[in-house]
Amino acid sequence: MARSFRIGNIGGVEVRAHPTVAIALLWVFWHWSRQAHDPYVGALFGGFLLLAIFVSVAGHELAHSFLARRYGLEVRDITLLPIGGVTRIEQFPLPPRREAMVALAGPVLNLVVAAGLTPVLLSALLWRGARSPLDLLLVARETSPSSLLLLVWLANVLLALFNLLPAFPMDGGRVLRAWLSWMSDRLVATRIAVSLGYLLALALLVAGIVLRDLMLPLLALFLLGAATVETRLIELEDAMRRLPVGQFAVWDMGGVGPDQELSYALRGGPRDVAVVSGGRVVGMLWREDILRNVRSGDNRLVREVMDPTVVTVDVDTSVYDAHQRMLASGHPSIPVVENGRYRGIFTADRLVHVYRYLQEGRRPRARYLVVAEALGLIGR
Ligand SMILES: [Zn+2]
Repeated sequence: MARSFRIGNIGGVEVRAHPTVAIALLWVFWHWSRQAHDPYVGALFGGFLLLAIFVSVAGHELAHSFLARRYGLEVRDITLLPIGGVTRIEQFPLPPRREAMVALAGPVLNLVVAAGLTPVLLSALLWRGARSPLDLLLVARETSPSSLLLLVWLANVLLALFNLLPAFPMDGGRVLRAWLSWMSDRLVATRIAVSLGYLLALALLVAGIVLRDLMLPLLALFLLGAATVETRLIELEDAMRRLPVGQFAVWDMGGVGPDQELSYALRGGPRDVAVVSGGRVVGMLWREDILRNVRSGDNRLVREVMDPTVVTVDVDTSVYDAHQRMLASGHPSIPVVENGRYRGIFTADRLVHVYRYLQEGRRPRARYLVVAEALGLIGR
């Protein structure tokens, strides 16, 4: 992934392309220039087709990314590959329902695109007099606008269907895992979905050998790699379930009192601060609220600005559960208490220390969930 190059930034998500995309481009030029009467028209057609497919893949990945970000996860980047795309999302698991929604967002986007193209495609085909499946095959081999429309429509339908296969690392595997974790342990649910992923990869490998097709084994390798990353992630998650949040919290003697002036909360720089009264957490001062009020000039009291909703975790709560609660609250910090008394604060920044700690113990290294999309149709 390291040598991929940046194409642009869409809505705050970096989109990159792997150098091997250039090989796919050359292949497409060569293939389609032989297909058409005029090689230049053919090459141009191939270029447009590849571009349209990459836009579909990028749209699929962005749909995952935007929804994941709305649920509070950090999205690192999207990389386009000749056989699909890879999105790196912060690895923390969401509640099953939300996880299923994020997984479904990609295929749903492709189905919406296909549905939008359908009336245009149907009119183009009717106008061309194409009525039977054989006519469709003939159109698909042309280098005409109808052919481009048909192939892009097909690419979106296949992207949606293939990615909905119920096996990791496909989106369908994530939906299956979410559904299974309603009924059993998440770890068991993941193992089942990952095993199905290995089976799918094996089936693709065998099909590739039988059909003498090079794309299928490549796809199988891609799936195997992603399934392995996923396995490492479950181990990481498992480790985080066993680490107490107290070990990684920033210890703090006291927080601020509700009757202190707001400027007092700015000691040590603007940050999320717990509001403590008689040793107990009574509210939170969020960084952005402090800054907004300080900028407005009038120095108010802490109690007027604080968020009185109190969500705390005990020192013995696992890092995993603490982060789940942070995600649910929509704030990057959570106060840590011991026997009900305020002890310190755990923030999203502290997660870096958790990862570092786990790495020192030579535990799993994967930090980002890799949403891998497989696309088996370029070059067909
Ligand atoms: Zn997807």
